[in-house]
Amino acid sequence: MANLEGFTAPGVLRLHPYIPGKPVEELERELGIRNSLKLASNENPLGASPLAVASAKQAIDEVNLYPDDMAFRLKNKLAALHGVSFDSLIMGNGSSDVLDMVARTFLQPGVNAVFAEHSFAMYPIFTTACGAECKVAAVNPPEHQSMPYGADLQAMTDAVDENTRIVFIANPNNPTGTWVQAAELKAFIRALPESVIVVLDEAYIEYVTDPEFANGIEWLDEFPNLLVTRTFSKMYGLAGLRIGYGVANPALAGLINRLRHPFNANLLALVAAEAALDDQAFVSQSIANNTTGLKQLIAGFEAMDLSYIPSVGNFISVDVKANGNEIYQALLRKGVIVRPVANYNLPTHLRITVGQEDQNQRALTALAEVLAK
Ligand SMILES: *Cc1c(COP(=O)(O)O)cnc(C)c1O
Repeated sequence: MANLEGFTAPGVLRLHPYIPGKPVEELERELGIRNSLKLASNENPLGASPLAVASAKQAIDEVNLYPDDMAFRLKNKLAALHGVSFDSLIMGNGSSDVLDMVARTFLQPGVNAVFAEHSFAMYPIFTTACGAECKVAAVNPPEHQSMPYGADLQAMTDAVDENTRIVFIANPNNPTGTWVQAAELKAFIRALPESVIVVLDEAYIEYVTDPEFANGIEWLDEFPNLLVTRTFSKMYGLAGLRIGYGVANPALAGLINRLRHPFNANLLALVAAEAALDDQAFVSQSIANNTTGLKQLIAGFEAMDLSYIPSVGNFISVDVKANGNEIYQALLRKGVIVRPVANYNLPTHLRITVGQEDQNQRALTALAEVLAK
């Protein structure tokens, strides 16, 4: 037998693969149960945008054809929507694909990427895969007044050194749901050297209702080193189609686009995404459901005397004051799938996606029962 590990890229050897939320089908197969509830992957509980689904259905008969590699129609629509040029856009097979592309464009052994503790799991995975180092900045302490567990931009600035090539920041962040203020974020980016690419991951921005919330796309003219990523997985309910994008200054977007796989955005995803952008009714319903659902979950946590991390996403992380993995397992036996976040260094928290009212109630009741044991 050849010593395969001896030939493996060092970054790949150090990888710990991403652990996704448990699929409903898998749990039901394992336990022989039905009617389980998954609130574990920040999927839209209202389903997919109906306009997107109708478009994808119309296009299904054309899947013998390769998709439009240029994504002409979708990119034109996004360019008009965001007030950016066509060449500013990078299509992705989900926005994770764009995160991978930017990592492979700038990271290699000897350099590093900076991000905050409890950041999205893909940042360390893509950084490590490239053989680069992860520099993890401390976050606000749990007793912080306004934003416990939130990113500490000063600590992130301090972590940047001459070998830093990328700073990743999600706003709001997953799995915490915390956010940074527009003025502070802008000052943070402005103070960084232009040689550092700032990846601003806005996967959940469509759920944020505060009109003052930072929209990084508006800052692209000022920052040639800024890449903003967006996705159709969360608000638009198209997680299963895999489509997202990045927006950056055309020079930066052009570099990243060099290593984009041809046809990475599939034919159904392209037409569905285009239609989803017109589905204002679905967006409004999703925001309304999320806003009331967050309040419902918070009221439930408070009734159980549990603290939670402030969130403006479509999920919230609650401190169950016990071993999170054990509570997660006990909830599974009740057919409720949430997300343990011990792998994010939050061993007593569980992340719960905001569902519909009855789903939130079922999750709260199950949690109360499990904790009462
Ligand atoms: C879900 C998520 C993404 C991207 O998901 P895709 O399905 O690949 O578009 C990116 N960043 C964060 C923080 C997320 O939670």
